[in-house]
Amino acid sequence: MKRGEIVIGEQPTLTSEKIQELKVAWGARNERAGEMRSQSPKFQAAMKKLSENPEWQAANAAAIVRRTTDPNWQAAIAEANKKKAQDPEWRANQATGSKKRSESPEWQAQHKAQLAKQNHERWHVKRGIVNPECELCRTEVA
Ligand SMILES: [Zn+2]
Repeated sequence: MKRGEIVIGEQPTLTSEKIQELKVAWGARNERAGEMRSQSPKFQAAMKKLSENPEWQAANAAAIVRRTTDPNWQAAIAEANKKKAQDPEWRANQATGSKKRSESPEWQAQHKAQLAKQNHERWHVKRGIVNPECELCRTEVA
């Protein structure tokens, strides 16, 4: 056998689809395992105990401060954000993401309800007015 020759033999050929499939399956398995672990009372008790330990709290806080005040870390984050924002694919995803969100009936209903509440508080509650056309005024009177 010459150098550079590859014998595949009995092994199944891995296509990119197959690899993707395996990755998804592996990810789901890991997620499930993580979920099971984090749901176990033993794990939760251990985490609780750990998070109540002042030494751990101090160490954790110090680690966060150390990391976030590290100029290298800040530069890396800034650089990563810049790269991300320059990536046309990322930008397109962001745009379609927010478009999709604002097109969803749930989002629209929520948005409408929020605006109504803001208006109701501003124009009715603060002025002591009850507007019969305002649904929120009506429900508060009823
Ligand atoms: Zn109102």
